[in-house]
Amino acid sequence: MKAMILKETMPIEKEPLQWVDVPTPSPGPKEILVKVSACGMCHTEIDEIEGRLQPNLPIILGHEIVGKVEGLGPGVTKFAQGDRVGIAWINSACGKCQFCKNGNENLCSEFKGTGCHAHGGYAQYTVVSEDFAYLIPQRFSDSEAAPLLCAGAIGYRDLRLSGIKRGQTLGLFGFGASAHIVVQMAIHLGCEVFVFTRSEEHRTLARKLGASWAGGPEDEAPKKLYCAIDFTPVGETVPHALRALEKGGRLVMAVIRKRNPIPPMDYAQLLWDEKEIKSVANITRKDAQEFLSLAAEIPIIPEVQEFRLEEANQALILLKQGKIQGAGVLRIPH
Ligand SMILES: [Zn+2]
Ligand SMILES: [Zn+2]
Repeated sequence: MKAMILKETMPIEKEPLQWVDVPTPSPGPKEILVKVSACGMCHTEIDEIEGRLQPNLPIILGHEIVGKVEGLGPGVTKFAQGDRVGIAWINSACGKCQFCKNGNENLCSEFKGTGCHAHGGYAQYTVVSEDFAYLIPQRFSDSEAAPLLCAGAIGYRDLRLSGIKRGQTLGLFGFGASAHIVVQMAIHLGCEVFVFTRSEEHRTLARKLGASWAGGPEDEAPKKLYCAIDFTPVGETVPHALRALEKGGRLVMAVIRKRNPIPPMDYAQLLWDEKEIKSVANITRKDAQEFLSLAAEIPIIPEVQEFRLEEANQALILLKQGKIQGAGVLRIPH
């Protein structure tokens, strides 16, 4: 099969992903073989490529995978040939530790990420345990469904952990794939949403999707925020977001890694008054499942910008530069 493979970490500008032929994987016990049609792109891939996360090299990246079940390993009972399925960031967890038993499998110390510890969707085929795949609701096209699997599902977890309630004000810092889905969910929930981003195109999209205000990261929003979610890969956003919070407000940090450090912060000005900071680590299967049903019900339709799999290097450079509107999705040729 054809795949874009990462053999060593380096800046994405050096275009490290290589277009290669590799053997098509075969499904083991309780695994399904998926013929991939679309795979979303995520900032996490840039963290892996540039070495802020340590993938098992060589690796096929990609954890927002949509495709059809093409083969069944021994003992598969949950899926049939031809089912349309999705695969998300959570590839496996031990199932036995206290985190797994309490529904926090995202914190399992044996957590494995798709496209990081196991091969992902930047390829024509992939295999996954039947316990870590999800049926895709009919109303979404393959490309629309792909970003729901990370940008959407993790956004759902961010919003849950923010504790936001109907009628409250929510700030979104950065307006990429995840935030443009979260704004739709938050408005559906009855929140007023303020968007902070440098990109004029992203501000226009935010207003179109129902944000009541959009400005720059240093600008003052018309109202104080009960909650803020920081989607940006940079450290400087943290003090801006804390400054915008109401007393007792909570900042949720959605990214796995920041590209640069959080600057020193004045405790009295930015953190006192019972403000909280919470990070979000990975997702659970429940997040993915619940979010897919909710997205179909609302409905949430992601804005997608499509690229061909062979163009993944150039598309990821655009993602790093913040030049993608909504979510970037790779189409897989067959
Ligand atoms: Zn992701
Ligand atoms: Zn575990």
